[in-house]
Amino acid sequence: MKILVCVKRVPMTGGKMVLTADEQALETKHLGFTISPHEECGVEEAIRLVDAHGGESVVLTLGPPEALEQLRDAMAMGMSRAIHLETDGGEFDPEATVAAITAAIRDDEAASGPFDLILLGNESADSGGYQVGLRIARALGRPCATGIKAIAVEAGSVRCEQEAGGGRDVYALPLPAVATVLEGLNLPRYPSVPGRMRAKSKPVAASQPSPERPRLERVRLAVPPGSAKEAVVLGRGAEAAAAVVDLLEQIGVAR
Ligand SMILES: Cc1cc2nc3c(=O)[nH]c(=O)nc-3n(C[C@H](O)[C@H](O)[C@H](O)COP(=O)(O)OP(=O)(O)OC[C@H]3O[C@@H](n4cnc5c(N)ncnc54)[C@H](O)[C@@H]3O)c2cc1C
Repeated sequence: MKILVCVKRVPMTGGKMVLTADEQALETKHLGFTISPHEECGVEEAIRLVDAHGGESVVLTLGPPEALEQLRDAMAMGMSRAIHLETDGGEFDPEATVAAITAAIRDDEAASGPFDLILLGNESADSGGYQVGLRIARALGRPCATGIKAIAVEAGSVRCEQEAGGGRDVYALPLPAVATVLEGLNLPRYPSVPGRMRAKSKPVAASQPSPERPRLERVRLAVPPGSAKEAVVLGRGAEAAAAVVDLLEQIGVAR
C-alpha cells in the first residue's frame, strides 16, 4: 500500500493566546509547535497499515521551513519519507492550500504510482476549517469519509467507522480513497531515539509552491473571551501556606 498523511504545523496554545499587532496571526515568538492529535493518529494508522500490508507511508506538509521539524517527528515515528511544500509567508487560504497539496499529490503519483489511501485530520488544531480533506477528495475525484474512528483495509476497499449517536456508521470505500480521522482512532507511539536517528536520513522532497490569489479575506482574529489563562502567585516560601489553605478551602478540596 502507498499511504499519504497530511499534517499541519500549528502553535501549542496551552496558555494565554496573544495576537500580533495587526490581529492577523497568533504571536508565536514564545510558543512551541506541534501537529493536531487527529493528525498524530493519522500518522500512527499509516505506519500500522504499512506494517500489516507492506508498502510505504509518506507524510506531507505545506508550511514554513521550520515545519521540517514536524515531518522529521512523523518519520521518527516510522513514516518512510516526506514531502515539504515550503511557504515563505505568502497567503495560503484553504483553496490555495488544497491546490498546492493536490498538485504535489499528482506529481508524486505520476512518479511512483497512486496513493491507495490519503489520511488527514478531521480538522486542524488552529483554524479548524474542516475543508482540506473534502476538497482534496473532490479535486482528485476520490471517495471520502470524515470523522473516522476505526480503519481496516480489506481487498480493494477501506472500511471506515464513524461515531454516530451512541453507535457507529460503517462505510466501505473503494480504493483509492480519502479519510479524515479523529483522535481515539488509535494510541500514537512516541518516537524512539533510534527512530529519531533514522529519521535524519529519510528523504524529504522540498518544493516552493506559489499561492493562488486568495478569494477569502481574513479581516482580523480575536481571542475568545475567557480563553486566557492566568497564573496567580499566592506568596513565596512558608508565607504562602495560609493563602494555599484558603484557596484549597475555597475550591472545596480542604475544610
Ligand atoms: C485569507 C486567508 C489567508 C491565509 N493565509 C495563510 C498563510 O499565509 N499561511 C498559513 O499558514 N495559513 C494561512 N491561512 C490559513 C489557511 O488557509 C488554513 O490554515 C489552511 O487552509 C488549512 O485550513 P484549516 O486549518 O481550516 O484546515 P482543516 O480543513 O481544518 O484541516 C484538516 C486537515 O487538513 C490537513 N491540512 C490542513 N492544512 C494543512 C497544511 N498546511 N499542510 C498539510 N496538511 C494540512 C491536516 O491533516 C488537517 O488536520 C489563511 C487563511 C485565510 C482565510
